[in-house]
Amino acid sequence: MSEATSALHEDSRSFAPSPEFTAQANAGDLSIYDKAAADPEAFWAGYAEQLDWFQKWTKVLDWDAPHAKWFVDGKLNVSYNCVDRHAKGERADKVAMIFEGEPGDVRKITYAELYDEVNRLANALKSLGVTKGDRVSIYLPMIPELPISLLACTRIGAIHSVVFGGFSVESLRDRVNDCGAKLIITSDGGWRRGNVVALKKTADEAAVDCPNVEKMVVVKRIGAEKAPVTMEAGRDFWYDELLAAAEPVCEPEWMDSEDPLFVLYTSGSTGKPKGIQHTTGGYLTGVYTTSKLIFDLKDNDIFWCTADVGWVTGHSYIVYGPLANGATMVVYEGSPDTPARDRFWRVIEKHKVTVFYTAPTAIRTFMKWGDALPNSCDLSTIRLMGTVGEPINPEAWLWYNDVIGKGKAPICDTWWQTETGHIMIAPLPGLVATKPGSATRPFPGITADVVNDHGDPVPVGTKGYLVVNKPWPGMLRTLWQDDARYKQVYWSRFPGRYLTGDGAVKDADGYFWLMGRIDDIMLVAGHNISTMELESALVEHPAVAEAAVIGKAHDVKGQSPVAFVIVREGYHADDALATELKKFVGKKLGPVCRPDDILFTADLPKTRSGKIMRRLLRDIAEGRVLGDTTTLADPNIVASLKDKYTSDEG
Ligand code: ATP
Ligand code: MG
Repeated sequence: MSEATSALHEDSRSFAPSPEFTAQANAGDLSIYDKAAADPEAFWAGYAEQLDWFQKWTKVLDWDAPHAKWFVDGKLNVSYNCVDRHAKGERADKVAMIFEGEPGDVRKITYAELYDEVNRLANALKSLGVTKGDRVSIYLPMIPELPISLLACTRIGAIHSVVFGGFSVESLRDRVNDCGAKLIITSDGGWRRGNVVALKKTADEAAVDCPNVEKMVVVKRIGAEKAPVTMEAGRDFWYDELLAAAEPVCEPEWMDSEDPLFVLYTSGSTGKPKGIQHTTGGYLTGVYTTSKLIFDLKDNDIFWCTADVGWVTGHSYIVYGPLANGATMVVYEGSPDTPARDRFWRVIEKHKVTVFYTAPTAIRTFMKWGDALPNSCDLSTIRLMGTVGEPINPEAWLWYNDVIGKGKAPICDTWWQTETGHIMIAPLPGLVATKPGSATRPFPGITADVVNDHGDPVPVGTKGYLVVNKPWPGMLRTLWQDDARYKQVYWSRFPGRYLTGDGAVKDADGYFWLMGRIDDIMLVAGHNISTMELESALVEHPAVAEAAVIGKAHDVKGQSPVAFVIVREGYHADDALATELKKFVGKKLGPVCRPDDILFTADLPKTRSGKIMRRLLRDIAEGRVLGDTTTLADPNIVASLKDKYTSDEG
């Protein structure tokens, strides 16, 4: 990457924490950063000690780059830490999970009830032949049985691999086969926009080509009338029947700190999904600590992370982080616009959500839908908000702050990856002043940097590669059965340092500004321009709801920026607007940044976790055959965009 500066942060406002928040912050005071930097291993070990270990570790870290072992020789069980220690103590009758189904059904599960169900399912899995080290694929909607299945696997030492409940036969089959699962947990279906998603049917079709799969456990979510299923004798078992027959107590397996906990495939926005492998002790310590300090979880909080458990945010901040803290978390099954576009705000109002964690893509959608919907709901319980998944453009940040947080809830923009296991860069609420669009500074104990092609730190305001300098507890240990790819992808570019694949800039205050994927940075007439900067500029225009920018190959300039734009309700997508937008961007960021083409669209191709798939937009703009589309939320969008692009061009 040749050096180029970024204008993004220059006129940024800063939001100081309120003294009231500071006074009660779990993170204490700013000295936490210096203490952690002076001795990161002691910092992490201090939090690991707050977990329950059957046998204590002999050494905190064993680092033989690029392989780390955390809490060496320590023995623990994740379900024990997330369930037993609360269920057997003062939190037995505390609600662990508030589930709301899309049709409006609500189920509240206490820690004592969670204990019972996790234990029974663990015994049921054992009775079906699952033992320590076996892989179990989980293909479920967002229902209580999803977190429960994860916990039951951890109880017996089975390695879970969750596959998002909206994925196709092909995506499911590939993931099941890649990890060699012998059992699939699925359901007759789930609700999505008032329709039944027939998961068992998809699982049946996938299983035809999954030679390792011996058994299937089926949760009854919908019922035979709307979701008839075929149960294959000897292979398929009803979840509720298994639980009713199971022994109520299953002793937790003593897992080594470095035993694998789960394999999860990345969202595939940059290429073929990678099987990220996480282990037990370090991961749990990382998600426990970050949940406690960043989401500031207190016993009376109601925490709602809107992600799906099908991706890492759901693993770390719906299931393991909050439960390890004994928190109450919300699980919502359906879409944000069913029955109406105020559904999320209604969920917050009804369950009195205090900490809310969502994604920029959702925030931009809510902005597009207008302020009246959130304004008509009582959101006064919200005291803290988070965002994750993509860089958040300042415009969306400010809207989130004003309309949802009413200016009183600090915003934690959290940068991390499936690979990192837990949040890596984010403000500690109450301690760190925030700036719209910046994830602020690395979490205590994490050393990140922005470097040039030679691995040297770049000057303030200059774009470079985001790297992590030292191992951290929740880091991936390898890629499932592909250590060579692990070394090559993450550790070969700058030996000893983890390559995140993202570009970033540091400002004069040491704040990190994420610039998106390195692959998404364009080289236009010799200038490095991040697609994210152009997108942020476009979204500042009142007519633009959302934008995706890519660099299209260009004979003279190398690459030329092309923008795909979704127009806000009430605006007209026509040539005049396209011209105006080109000028608008040129004026804001300089003439080289002016997009050459603007294509109006109703939708953008996104992964199931809501990330824009720029590589597919590049394929479209450059007239190539589309790459892997299996992780797309709606494959029809790319097909129609391709048609539209070709007809506009020709
Ligand atoms: P693949 O690696 O297969 O392309 P993916 O990277 O989209 O998939 P995830 O691990 O879910 O899959 O996403 C992590 C990426 O999301 C980060 O590398 C970064 O690009 C982006 N990201 C996540 N949170 C933030 C954030 N707060 N600010 C900026 N970017 C973010
Ligand atoms: Mg990635």
